[in-house]
Amino acid sequence: MEGGCTCRNVRYRLTGRPLIVHACHCTWCQRETGTVHALNAMYEAERVAHIAAEPEIVDTPSASGKGQKIARCARCKVAVWSNYPGSGPAVRFVRVGTLDDPSQCPPDVHIFTSSKQPWVTFPPGAKVFAEYYDRREVWPQEAQERWRVLREKMKQK
Ligand SMILES: [Zn+2]
Repeated sequence: MEGGCTCRNVRYRLTGRPLIVHACHCTWCQRETGTVHALNAMYEAERVAHIAAEPEIVDTPSASGKGQKIARCARCKVAVWSNYPGSGPAVRFVRVGTLDDPSQCPPDVHIFTSSKQPWVTFPPGAKVFAEYYDRREVWPQEAQERWRVLREKMKQK
């Protein structure tokens, strides 16, 4: 899968499927996206390759107080992915709306729905969490194995 910013200065290519796709309904994501939720496909950093210009990394305040780093096109400033302090630079949360075909990454889970907009409803069977969730109960086995490998690598650094 490929995607990029609006002016096509930043283009990326993704290897394989995301670990998980989050629809985050927190008020911070609502403000940053200008809409009702963020849609982030979580990938190991090495699976997100830049195939044109490198994005610029912008330090941005976050709900946790620890800040997040948002990768934006240096020209059109569209955000393509971000790092959160919990997982650091090893994990990139790719903004699904920047994919050439966002329909490839529907949400696996809805999080922080305690602050969702009142008119947002969920399809039957959707995984919906008022705040966050336990990875061991939600992620498919293959993604949990990739996560384990990633954590090992992070420890070695
Ligand atoms: Zn651009």
